[in-house]
Amino acid sequence: MCFSSYHLNRRALVFSAAAASAGLAIGGQAAAKAKTKLKGRITTTGGRGVKVHTYTAPDEGWQVTTQLIELPDQIIAFDGQYLLPYAQEAVDYAKTLNKPITRLYVSHYHPDHILGGEAFGAPMYALAPVKAKIDALADRLAGEERAKFPSDPDVIPVHPLKPQFVVEPGTEEIGGVTFEFRVTNHAETEDALVIGLPDDSIIMVQDLVYDRVHLFLGEKSFDGWETVLREYRELPYSHVLPGHGLPGGKELYGRMIDYLEFARVALAESRNGEELKAKLLAKYPDYGGRDLLDHQQRFLFKPA
Ligand SMILES: [Zn+2]
Repeated sequence: MCFSSYHLNRRALVFSAAAASAGLAIGGQAAAKAKTKLKGRITTTGGRGVKVHTYTAPDEGWQVTTQLIELPDQIIAFDGQYLLPYAQEAVDYAKTLNKPITRLYVSHYHPDHILGGEAFGAPMYALAPVKAKIDALADRLAGEERAKFPSDPDVIPVHPLKPQFVVEPGTEEIGGVTFEFRVTNHAETEDALVIGLPDDSIIMVQDLVYDRVHLFLGEKSFDGWETVLREYRELPYSHVLPGHGLPGGKELYGRMIDYLEFARVALAESRNGEELKAKLLAKYPDYGGRDLLDHQQRFLFKPA
């Protein structure tokens, strides 16, 4: 892998952000063209009162998403990316909207959602148990991930930003828009924040759902995860914005359940991480996030 590819050209980024801004002003086709200059992808889900711009990192960044919730006077960001260059791409795109980023919520403590947080220049919010985990673990996680980039470790900060504020489950009005803060347990991870915008039928489920990206199975909660997916499929939200991959609809829940069912059997029938990886690659050859299949091995199998 070429680590220098993580170095984004600053001038190119500034140019693409400006071009995106100009494109947005003159029409969708020009905007779409300008946006292709980003390494990540932007997908806008428009409701009546609010738009959510989903930044999806390229595969080197595990296709992790940052949701940029555009309110009349400000932008609320949700999830802080894995690598700083991609966090910066999301921030540079947000600047084209000409509104300040006033908060960064993070869904859970996994490194791919928190390590780029400082790029947002906004206070970080997390559920109380997530804040406790980040406070305790973030520096160690950053060190482990930096070691994967020996020639370019500064794509990840030594001391990542940690949450300053706790978000309570429930509803809150921000900028005249109703936010529903929900908690999921026993799914991809133990405690995770989900944000719903009920007036616009948009739900940002983050790592409860991945879209065409290999799942992180390290917490091995197959039953719990499937139960939560079935619960969420019944909720009155039609736009489903995942933590990895592109936004979709309720069909994403069923696709997730199918993957989990396959992976549960594949894991039981594999003697080591390489066997599991081979089975998942054969079943889902076009899925992204292949680095996740390596990342999770030490959580699933004891070292030989
Ligand atoms: Zn993730």
